[in-house]
Amino acid sequence: MNIHEYQAKELLAARGVAIPSGEVCDSADRARDIASALLAGGDTLVAVKSQIHAGGRGKGTFKSGYKGGVKLFKTAEEVHAGAAAMLGNVLVTKQTGAEGRLVNKLIVAGAPAIEKELYLAVLLDRVTSRPVIMASTEGGMDIEEVAAHTPEKIFKESVDPAVGLMPYQARRISVQLGLRGDLISQGAKLIAGVYRTWLETDAALIEINPLCIIKGGDGKLKLVALDAKMSLEDNALFRHPDLQGLRDLAEEAPLEIEASKFNLNYIKLDGSIACLVNGAGLAMATMDIIQYFGGRPANFLDVGGGASKEQVTAAFRIILQDPNVKGILVNIFGGIMDCNVIATGIAAAVKETGMKLPLVVRLEGNNVVAGKKTLAESGLTIISGDSMADAAKKVVQDVGA
Ligand code: ADP
Ligand code: MG
Repeated sequence: MNIHEYQAKELLAARGVAIPSGEVCDSADRARDIASALLAGGDTLVAVKSQIHAGGRGKGTFKSGYKGGVKLFKTAEEVHAGAAAMLGNVLVTKQTGAEGRLVNKLIVAGAPAIEKELYLAVLLDRVTSRPVIMASTEGGMDIEEVAAHTPEKIFKESVDPAVGLMPYQARRISVQLGLRGDLISQGAKLIAGVYRTWLETDAALIEINPLCIIKGGDGKLKLVALDAKMSLEDNALFRHPDLQGLRDLAEEAPLEIEASKFNLNYIKLDGSIACLVNGAGLAMATMDIIQYFGGRPANFLDVGGGASKEQVTAAFRIILQDPNVKGILVNIFGGIMDCNVIATGIAAAVKETGMKLPLVVRLEGNNVVAGKKTLAESGLTIISGDSMADAAKKVVQDVGA
């Protein structure tokens, strides 16, 4: 589950990570008031930042033509105008896709003079099965680009989960980031705070890009997290009732929300062949074989090992709501799954929705004879596939590549 920058910053600030002073709001008037207070408090520039679950906002463009989802202003009136241009409008960045995201909230924050932009992230390293801290002197740009062109500018510190992050490790990263003097201990404290936030929230990723060296009003250099991207591990959310409320349904695809209500693993894609499969591995293989025969999958859908008739019906309803779907491939290998449960669910769903699209079904395994009988007696036009390849070929033929 992804959360917004302002939510991530609250979690980080609560654990001692320095962030620019500011507030979140959802109206231009409120943005102006926050800006007035910041300017009166000594800030000379104010940042207005669109809150969407996507990066690249700074270089993004609104569908209205307004440029920039993150902008700096000198006066409260400019902030008011900027906020009015962003709120209620759709921001397109290179991470949102062409459809963009509607901006409902803004951060209005002090914009200190930036001396240098750095990069810091905490995530899980799948190779070592350990948390890893990643840092780079090249902040403010895509870390993928840095990794591709100047990998020597990325530093990694692997954390032993039994011992936790050691102070010397946080200091080592600070030094590698080029911090000197008092900034080394500020860096070590900030890194420890980010790591603790990651650990305590069961986060999958925290990325601070940019982490900035700024010059404070007193002329002293300070380290602050100017941006924060955070995603929480869905499988651990049950341990955090307080964090579950951070979910923003407006940021999620409506069909995926519907699917999660029925405990279905559904991810919408942009092809024309819907698939309904049991097991994530088989679902991946099904998408592959559809592509192999020249088709394009409309979704990933794993109904799980022990799906009920209600879940299968719901799954059907969900895949049929996608207007791009021109045909359906059901690929079930019944182990725990009873083929007849799937067949009953399919028959009910097709009747309920009045579906007329080509439906190719490949059933195999547990109680398959009863399942095939249910489908045959249902009176529906169902094309049966003898094998996975046969089923994929048939659905691609019927839909047309
Ligand atoms: P995104 O990564 O989505 O483009 P960022 O929060 O990183 O959004 O903002 C883009 C750029 O805007 C940053 O790299 C930084 O240069 C500038 N910026 C962001 N927030 C502030 C701020 N509070 N003060 C000054 N500059 C900022
Ligand atoms: Mg950023």
